[in-house]
Amino acid sequence: MTAPKHAPMTHFATANDELVLGGVPLSRLAERAGGTPFYVYERAALTRRVRHLREALPPEVRIHYALKANPMPAVVQHLAALVDGIDVASAGEMRIALDTPMKAEHISMAGPGKRREEIAAAIAAGIVLNVESFRELETVAGESARLGLRGRVALRVNPVFELKAAGMKMSGGAKPFGVDEEAIPALLKRTGELDLDFVGLHIFSGSQNLNAAVLIEAQKKSVELALRLAADCPGPIRKLNIGGGFGIPYFPGDRPLEIAPIGEALRARLAELRGAWPEAELILELGRYLVGEAGIYVCRIIDRKISRGQVFLVVDGGLHHHLAASGNFGQVIRKNYPVAIGNRMTAERREIASVVGPLCTPLDLLADKMELAAAEVGDLVVVFQSGAYGLTASPQGFLSHPPAREMLV
Ligand SMILES: *Cc1c(COP(=O)(O)O)cnc(C)c1O
Repeated sequence: MTAPKHAPMTHFATANDELVLGGVPLSRLAERAGGTPFYVYERAALTRRVRHLREALPPEVRIHYALKANPMPAVVQHLAALVDGIDVASAGEMRIALDTPMKAEHISMAGPGKRREEIAAAIAAGIVLNVESFRELETVAGESARLGLRGRVALRVNPVFELKAAGMKMSGGAKPFGVDEEAIPALLKRTGELDLDFVGLHIFSGSQNLNAAVLIEAQKKSVELALRLAADCPGPIRKLNIGGGFGIPYFPGDRPLEIAPIGEALRARLAELRGAWPEAELILELGRYLVGEAGIYVCRIIDRKISRGQVFLVVDGGLHHHLAASGNFGQVIRKNYPVAIGNRMTAERREIASVVGPLCTPLDLLADKMELAAAEVGDLVVVFQSGAYGLTASPQGFLSHPPAREMLV
């Protein structure tokens, strides 16, 4: 493995100027995919990431995969063998999770608008439903009775506190997710009156955080909140899901999240939790942290143009496959994802160029005036950190271009 002189942040190998994933050079991966654009995810990177996490966390902490980050069945199958549970957000995601060897009791479904049919499917499958409203609780009870099954439920709490500096805030204040902390005692009481299997609580406070201290604080508050609610619970807490929120570095200046101090702090949380409920599992649900850095998006340069002195590399892929890299998926100020010319990883000749897609909108921008290897038509543009919220978080139908392929190598 050569150390590329101008490499962007990448942990993948390079050989003969080319990026290599799963032992296969990029140009060969493009042939294997049957053409560009495509996403490719690396098994070894997924395995490494889970191992890294396990080494830092107390062994009792349960790691769940939040499937919406990357629902490709092969990826989910691979992760299912490495993690302790899978969290889904729809019946469609549930079916992908149920196709893996993961046991139903370790699969849970969250989401603010579960349809009656989805709730029935979840009960029939035997997964845990994270209940997000009083009405939903009654629907779960009604469907359980109709099916002659006892639905497994956890209650999703919208805590008073919020995750500071989170990329995407999901709690604190008025939120469509979960039930306000203040109303949880009443919801717990109602749960106890219904013929349901109460398994615990779900407290998710945000996403994409790179600050360990902030995450530690949120985890501490989540466990404290669960302990405060203890007296109101209709049974012992068997599962306490305290969310995830572990971020990955996307932009210049972003520093990778430090896992070691989080692992240390979780030891204390486990002790507190086990003091109240010896059987309780402490669960973290992670999406992008597990898959985000294990994947890339690849497209080919189909034109090279100069407009008033500025170089534009026009590629065959764009925001219709990778909305997040275009800056239109929750970013406030557009920043470039790490991008490279994947077949010129060590090239000396560099230039400032913009990478644009084929869509007739100025939003279709994968790199804005970035320093890249001087590139030609036919070269392969790589967008790193693309293993999460890529293809399925993008408007593929927009402009009716062909879909992107996906591979796990
Ligand atoms: C989206 C989501 C996650 C995953 O978030 P990441 O930022 O990908 O880790 C976890 N839990 C819930 C409830 C979610 O909605």
